[in-house]
Amino acid sequence: MKLYISADMEGVAGIVHPDQTDSKHKEFDRSRRLMTDEVNAAIAGALAGGATEVLVNDSHGGMTNILIENLHKQAHLISGSPKPLSMMQGIDEGADVAFFVGYHAQAGTLHGVLEHTYSSGSVWQVSLNGQPLGETGLNAALAGHYGVPVALVTGDLAVCREARELLGGNVEAVAVKRSYGRTAARCLPIAQAQRAIREAAQRAMSAAVHPFVVRPPVTVTADFAKTRHADVAALLPGSRRPNARRVEFTAPDALIAYQALLAMLRLAWSA
Ligand code: ZN
Repeated sequence: MKLYISADMEGVAGIVHPDQTDSKHKEFDRSRRLMTDEVNAAIAGALAGGATEVLVNDSHGGMTNILIENLHKQAHLISGSPKPLSMMQGIDEGADVAFFVGYHAQAGTLHGVLEHTYSSGSVWQVSLNGQPLGETGLNAALAGHYGVPVALVTGDLAVCREARELLGGNVEAVAVKRSYGRTAARCLPIAQAQRAIREAAQRAMSAAVHPFVVRPPVTVTADFAKTRHADVAALLPGSRRPNARRVEFTAPDALIAYQALLAMLRLAWSA
């Protein structure tokens, strides 16, 4: 069984503030150790549950967060950015199941720690075929394009709810913290969080989960925070501009929709 892990940072126990996820901040070294340890807990559980190969994709910020010297010795690591499939780089290299570790709720979620959708500053909401989705849903849709189901999501309580609603009750969802606000949460003791992730990861390897498939054609709708973001995102060839802050693109499949979204986001960040 080949396991693919996309690892973000905002959903890790102990992390509640953007400073902690910023590579230029003094807190960052603690955060990357906490992140690496949660990924290791997921890997240990998966190996106990039958995984034979593990590929980890570092998916936060500059994507050079995970400490390879501390990463489980059986795991391969994709590090760095930009990369063609961003948070999902490597999903096209063959996987039986995917885990999302350290994830956060979509932009606009009440009581979601550090909630956002790819960008805190420029994205209001992203939808596929009219359904608003966060990173969990958008990344699961790309995994689904390759026939890969998501079996484990870890993060705060809000992203766990989002994952179960979207991916079904059989997805293992581990809440390592509960939000009081966007930048405040009650966190599990670290050892308890990592044990819960390890146990859920082991169960997840035999969970009855199905790929999250978005039927083609796939229309990706990006509502940006400001008109100036949409002004540049609309430079994407073939896109439409229904209103000031919205850019839409209709793709023949979820892969091209994902690529179009990544291009729009990069353009918007430049505004
Ligand atoms: Zn992140």
